[in-house]
Amino acid sequence: MPNPSAPAAGGPEEGRAEFQARVHEWFAANAPRRGSPEDFSAVHIVSARTAREYHESEQHAISVTRAWQRRLFDAGLAGRSWRPEYGGHGAPAWQDEVVVEEQSRWGVSTKMFAVGLEMVPAVLFRHGTHEQRVTFLPPILRGEHSWCQLLSEPGAGSDLAGVQTRATPVDGGWSVTGQKVWTSNAGCSEYALLIARTGTREEGRAGLSCFVLAMTQPGVEIRPLRQMSGAYHFNEVFLDNAFVPELGLIGGRGDGWAVLRTMLASERAAIGGGTSARSAAQLVGLALRLGCADDPGVRDLLAQAAIRERTLDLLRARIAAGHTVAAAGPTTKLLYSEHARLSADAATTILGLAATVVDDPVSAPWLERLLFAPGLRLGGGTDEIQRNAIAERGLGLPR
Ligand SMILES: Cc1cc2nc3c(=O)[nH]c(=O)nc-3n(C[C@H](O)[C@H](O)[C@H](O)COP(=O)(O)OP(=O)(O)OC[C@H]3O[C@@H](n4cnc5c(N)ncnc54)[C@H](O)[C@@H]3O)c2cc1C
Repeated sequence: MPNPSAPAAGGPEEGRAEFQARVHEWFAANAPRRGSPEDFSAVHIVSARTAREYHESEQHAISVTRAWQRRLFDAGLAGRSWRPEYGGHGAPAWQDEVVVEEQSRWGVSTKMFAVGLEMVPAVLFRHGTHEQRVTFLPPILRGEHSWCQLLSEPGAGSDLAGVQTRATPVDGGWSVTGQKVWTSNAGCSEYALLIARTGTREEGRAGLSCFVLAMTQPGVEIRPLRQMSGAYHFNEVFLDNAFVPELGLIGGRGDGWAVLRTMLASERAAIGGGTSARSAAQLVGLALRLGCADDPGVRDLLAQAAIRERTLDLLRARIAAGHTVAAAGPTTKLLYSEHARLSADAATTILGLAATVVDDPVSAPWLERLLFAPGLRLGGGTDEIQRNAIAERGLGLPR
């Protein structure tokens, strides 16, 4: 039986061309072109040398993203497939794809809202109550609430069954104490999806529950972390008797593992469906600019980048068309992170020694990608974890 709370299903694609034309027209009138001075498609790649600069650039990135998301909402282009009571339009799911595809062609980004737009809905449509959806979903579509994920801990990353942050029942809800790490966007989010232990350690996965935690409250302390690129991107989050009201428990007590699986599947699909590592055309532009597009070695790198990108696009198109692709999320996520790494390596080869000049406007963006690529191999589950999933769920190999 279909889930009555789920967004409208695919449905016939009648009217797709007209809808596409209407969306294209709106973007042409409202969105900055890629490469123009107003282009903010990379605003989510927050990079700063001091904690203070990090805070300022994160605040800038989130306010630009909020304003853009609000414009999409006002234009009736946000949450096309979501039901009207959750802020959407009850349209077929392919209309969301049309908007996402069109958006990727312009100098805009909603990636700062990735958790809210791409993971929270999957979680709440599948495991949440009507009250939770009515409360949390519309403000995301309106660009009012940003979300982050409080999953990883110093002793629990790939294997989240080891989570030790504890949620204890108190009057009217839960009190949460523990430490999270590697939290993206913690300092600019109103809410977090949190995994915490409500049972004993011996219970493992069965002792976990998933919550919605308000980030701006006295029991939540956020400390920025610096990574190897020199840039700040992550945070540690310390929870000391932070409060979650009863409404914040998603699914039942002890259902955390099932909720987490939904969250991680949507995260992998979201990362794999991302566009920020798109690079083949840019690599060609770089080679032409530096006058080495005739070099056979460079041409080989450019061809490899174009082939990988095309493979990824075709795989996504199969998934979007409703074909069954075993282990689709892990496969696209793995292809995407490999593509990001190999493209950054290719750019470094093309740039040669210039790749080491940090303040050169041509090399600096590639250097940043080169240093960010290893992180893509980890975030949303490491490459090894994706390969395990492909082996087991895609190829049917034993654990
Ligand atoms: C860009 C980025 C953004 C992130 N954002 C967030 C966020 O917002 N919120 C959040 O909670 N976390 C976030 N993380 C953390 C991320 O989810 C973890 O880094 C990741 O899950 C790996 O966990 P770990 O770092 O503890 O490594 P570990 O789990 O300790 O793994 C160490 C190594 O062992 C390998 N390994 C572990 N288990 C297996 C296995 N069963 N089979 C084979 N190899 C294995 C891993 O592949 C890895 O190479 C982010 C990380 C990055 C890089």
